[in-house]
Amino acid sequence: MSSDGSLATPPQVDLVVIGGGLSGLAAAWTAHRLGWSVCVLEAGRTAGGKVRSERRDGFLLEWGPMAFPGSADAVWKLIEEVGLQGELVEGLPPGDRYVYRNRRARRLPQGPGSLLSGDYMSLGGKLRMLAEPFVLGNAREDDTVMSFARRRLGREAAQYLIAPFVSGVFAGDPEQLGARDAFPRLWQWEHDAGSVLMGAVLGRGAGPARSGEGSTAEHHHGLYSFREGLATLPKAIAAALPPGSVHTSAVVQGIEALADATYSVRYAATKDANEIGQVTARHVIIAVPPRAASGLLRTIPTAHDALAQVEMCRVAVVHFGGPDPHGVAPRGVGVVIPPGEGLRTLGILLPSSALPGRAPEGHWLHSGFVGGVCDPDAVDLTDETLLSLVRRAQQQAFGHLYPGLELPCTFSSVVRWRDAIPQYGVGHREAMARAVAAVEQTWPGVTLAGNHLHGINVNDAAHSGVVAVRRLHERQVVAAATSLAQGGVS
Ligand SMILES: Cc1cc2nc3c(=O)[nH]c(=O)nc-3n(C[C@H](O)[C@H](O)[C@H](O)COP(=O)(O)OP(=O)(O)OC[C@H]3O[C@@H](n4cnc5c(N)ncnc54)[C@H](O)[C@@H]3O)c2cc1C
Repeated sequence: MSSDGSLATPPQVDLVVIGGGLSGLAAAWTAHRLGWSVCVLEAGRTAGGKVRSERRDGFLLEWGPMAFPGSADAVWKLIEEVGLQGELVEGLPPGDRYVYRNRRARRLPQGPGSLLSGDYMSLGGKLRMLAEPFVLGNAREDDTVMSFARRRLGREAAQYLIAPFVSGVFAGDPEQLGARDAFPRLWQWEHDAGSVLMGAVLGRGAGPARSGEGSTAEHHHGLYSFREGLATLPKAIAAALPPGSVHTSAVVQGIEALADATYSVRYAATKDANEIGQVTARHVIIAVPPRAASGLLRTIPTAHDALAQVEMCRVAVVHFGGPDPHGVAPRGVGVVIPPGEGLRTLGILLPSSALPGRAPEGHWLHSGFVGGVCDPDAVDLTDETLLSLVRRAQQQAFGHLYPGLELPCTFSSVVRWRDAIPQYGVGHREAMARAVAAVEQTWPGVTLAGNHLHGINVNDAAHSGVVAVRRLHERQVVAAATSLAQGGVS
């Protein structure tokens, strides 16, 4: 069943996209703009993948990402193309971010000018961090995020700035993530300029936006989302595609190369009965998480093995909120919590303060994150236990802001992801490049997309879909030119 109600997939299209997350939808949209007919097969009941928003009791709950930054060029381009500008909401000032240290949240510096102020680190730690340009550059391909951060910024900045930031972004283990793989720009700055800070200064304003040619990404700062949440974007892309293009509750089970250089994609339609369907296409983009992609590529061992080895972390997202009669709820974007500070929570975002319309008037809404690579079993705790963990973290971090007062919690909701975020270990990007090359060599009309390829955020996911279509399109143009030339010679 398609998301617009039509029953069956068309027998043949130019492109089948497997997976209707942001990467798959960006691919489908880009192909549609090239004039290709597309069919998106999505296993879930709705398209959007990890990008999912839900309004409940007046609270707006984001199952996955809460917002995207002004620099998200691929996302801005999609917004402009599907005409979503009128739905945008901008993050509210103040954009305070905190790190938890020694029993309370401490405000992080807002920019290079305020690095020396505040109590987020000792003076010695701050001076060591600022001495970074004088530390000899020694970029190593097998650097982990932590070995890189300790060498460049010193132990204290590594522990209280980099480690919690990594937990917040990857829910990962900074001792395992590869510096070059997880944060390629920082690694490259050391490699090219001998210093991360110097590289940042020299690199600022160098060149146009990556994938947003003609987009206005460079004019935006801060955080953005939509009135009814981030899922507005995948919903709008699905709706802007021709009717019958997006098929939900369709679990792809296999891909077969046919003799005429097309591919047959077999899926089970799980909504009403377990019917088996099939679509044939000249091109296929596999835009599903790495484990699922590996399962579809059993006949291509290099790709199958590399994708099977990508670790995905488990994360529980606990939304909790209530009335704020005294107007004391903390303001800002959120707090990251370093490991070893005695709290079983990775961090807390403050959606009702960061973006408008996330909670009913006079109420607060926070989102706590529990689990990650270093505490995977936490995801299996009961809802009550998870709520008590994030409540405790909230009170420890921000209790000093409302001494003697209560921040009553009357609403809560838990989401569990068992394949939340791919972990970019040392050598991850090279392994993924080899996987893509193996697929394209074996099946020239097939390629991959997804946030396990070019970066883990929503912008990287969207960008991966655009890149996948470009690769297929370029190969098609080259093949057509070659066959024309050969035809001309013979
Ligand atoms: C808790 C959480 C918080 C996050 N926070 C942020 C944030 O603040 N900022 C940010 O930029 N990013 C954030 N992210 C990351 C962001 O959500 C992802 O980068 C992005 O949504 C990934 O999109 P994708 O299309 O690559 O993958 P997915 O969204 O995983 O989409 C893949 C799709 O493939 C489908 N699928 C799987 N198997 C099959 C099959 N056999 N047949 C058909 N379909 C199949 C799945 O159902 C899914 O819809 C967060 C992620 C999580 C989980």
